[in-house]
Amino acid sequence: MVRLTILGCGDAFGAGGRLHSAYLVETPQSTFLVDCGPTILQSLKRLRIDPGRIDFIVLSHLHGDHFGGLPFLFMQYRYDTPRSRPLGIYGPPGTAERTQRLFEALYEKTAHEAMNFAVGYHALTPGAAHTVADVRMLPFAVPHVSELCCLGYRFEADGRAIVYSGDSAWSDDFITQARGADLFLCECSTFEPHVPIHISYREIAARARDIDCRRIVLTHLGAEPLRRQREISLDCARDGMTLELAGTPRASRRARSVAPLSGARRRPKGASRGRARRAR
Ligand SMILES: [Zn+2]
Ligand SMILES: [Zn+2]
Repeated sequence: MVRLTILGCGDAFGAGGRLHSAYLVETPQSTFLVDCGPTILQSLKRLRIDPGRIDFIVLSHLHGDHFGGLPFLFMQYRYDTPRSRPLGIYGPPGTAERTQRLFEALYEKTAHEAMNFAVGYHALTPGAAHTVADVRMLPFAVPHVSELCCLGYRFEADGRAIVYSGDSAWSDDFITQARGADLFLCECSTFEPHVPIHISYREIAARARDIDCRRIVLTHLGAEPLRRQREISLDCARDGMTLELAGTPRASRRARSVAPLSGARRRPKGASRGRARRAR
């Protein structure tokens, strides 16, 4: 069984009071973070998740709302709940340098001291799969901003597959990457397509029926989609939501035939059962 907990599904601006990007994925052998926004400690502690359980961290790109929580996690492991085992951090090229610079900017003295745990940085190359314990991750390039290497991911473990868009403009490559997945976690920063570096609800809704995955959940929700949530026919993430991916492996099918998933998922506030399903 694979479980994904939404630690933060807000955008860079914390729209609606939502926390910054972070997701906890638990597999039979691994517990890892996907993105680590600045509110990482708040989100873990609200949900009473021990930060020490995190085996490794995977980053989509080096924007503050996605990796800015690393220094706070380091401080947690340095002082509050000391960590001794190594921490692996996987991300785009430049992750080690940017993270160290950020740590130095925020906690100058501690950042220059020897740590009580080793941090191992691993720069990922789009298209090159990487396996950590029981998790296979395939990073793929997504069109977000030109100055950074921005990655989406397909994670596979225990017969389940999760595809994460990271931050991106819409690309039909998501249809390919999400094929046969159990979950496509897709950013939705706006409702109308007026910000070219992000995905709008209009764009994902228009292609939802072409995406052959079991479930689509919108995340990285900006003020506009939150304001117009009653018009949204796809599932929307909420901070603290848990998605359990279990059951018999799915046969390939069109996205419109949605199989129920187990788990303590909460419906988006104000959404009816029908609306919490999927766009037609
Ligand atoms: Zn972002
Ligand atoms: Zn970004």
